[in-house]
Amino acid sequence: MLMKKILIGTHNNGKFKELSYLISSKIKKISPKKLNIESPKETGKTFSSNAILKAKYFSKFSNLPVISDDSGLCIKALKQRPGIYSARWAKRHGSFLKAMKFILRKMKKKDNRSATFVCSLSIIVPKKKIIVVTGKIKGSISKKIIGKNGFGYDPIFIPFSKNITFGQMSKLKKIKMDHRYIAFKKMKKKIKIL
Ligand code: IMP
Repeated sequence: MLMKKILIGTHNNGKFKELSYLISSKIKKISPKKLNIESPKETGKTFSSNAILKAKYFSKFSNLPVISDDSGLCIKALKQRPGIYSARWAKRHGSFLKAMKFILRKMKKKDNRSATFVCSLSIIVPKKKIIVVTGKIKGSISKKIIGKNGFGYDPIFIPFSKNITFGQMSKLKKIKMDHRYIAFKKMKKKIKIL
């Protein structure tokens, strides 16, 4: 299958950069911003349904192959919240910093700090079936906000087997181990050209 261009269906810079890095350098990456396409409403109840919804929406408005991501942080002691509401929590609290502070306050009395970052990736290539895969990485919530790298909730997530947050890790190290990378590897098995 030949693919010269792909629209990376997100307005989130962090996600755009990570997916751009993972996709073959032979494929030109387009952002919805460049085509003046806004984001759809995330009305799905799961990461995968939202990823599919975004891929369909961006494909309809761009006529290009599209890869879309829906992702978030699921915290066990908070009944898997913020989960699919991760972006909306940041918006509601005014910033990621405020949302992270809120989470750390809520976690103060919790013994179990287990958390999982989840990413569903969906791809639509014209005349092909829509594909969706999900990647997860387990870890824990740190006691403090630490690290200036990455984006979103990176400074409060310590991936299992490491003792630093995603926010403290070098960009490349994080990109090559996170939930998006795990989902992307699954996707690549299905669409080799990526
Ligand atoms: P959505 O997929 O557009 O609903 O947004 C997912 C939210 O989870 C965003 O606000 C992200 O910042 C956050 N998120 C997803 N993946 C990561 C990550 O790798 N690091 C930090 N935050 C993330």
